Amino acid sequence: MEILEAVHRRLSQLARRREPWPEALKEALLDVQQAVEQVAPGLLSGVRLPTQDKLLEDAKRLRRGEVPEDPAYAFWLHQALRLISWPEEGDGGLPGKDWAERCPACGGFPDVGYLDAEGRRFHVCAFCDTSFRALRLACPYCGEARADHLVYYEEGPYRVYVCRSCGERFVVQDLRLKAELDLPVLRARAAWYALAEEEDVEV
Ligand SMILES: [Zn+2]
Ligand SMILES: [Zn+2]
Repeated sequence: MEILEAVHRRLSQLARRREPWPEALKEALLDVQQAVEQVAPGLLSGVRLPTQDKLLEDAKRLRRGEVPEDPAYAFWLHQALRLISWPEEGDGGLPGKDWAERCPACGGFPDVGYLDAEGRRFHVCAFCDTSFRALRLACPYCGEARADHLVYYEEGPYRVYVCRSCGERFVVQDLRLKAELDLPVLRARAAWYALAEEEDVEV
């Protein structure tokens, strides 16, 4: 967990780019590789990047929450995409709704969330860190909203929601139990549970 935290902390310090992709994506991939090498050497060494067309296709899918199967490649691509800005894709939040499924600023998918002081649920965009109100009970990956299909485990101030429809996990911090929201720490925890899922470990 400490190494994951250090990796996320280091990555959160990288400068964001505004140039158009695919050029910006290539530079961002290099930036992420260098940053990860400093903290966790070898983490990405087994990954072979695909062709540019495939990269762009995977990037678009990842933005919609469809994550590539190889976890190291998925992580690398996701972290690179975080360095690119996507202001043109958000819908600003749809009128008449006080919640959103995707980031109203950039249209990206959320990767972690929190419950605020009133217990309202918010999600954090996996790409630009914008917080937005989310449905109290719904799987962000498949939209499942039936209560008996969504279970969660509590670990201190953290809730790990497990969707019985798609099998995905989503980590939410309860700010009533721990007020300080530290995104690198929360993301390291989410990555930790994702790894546990890979290895079929019970949480
Ligand atoms: Zn966003
Ligand atoms: Zn689901």
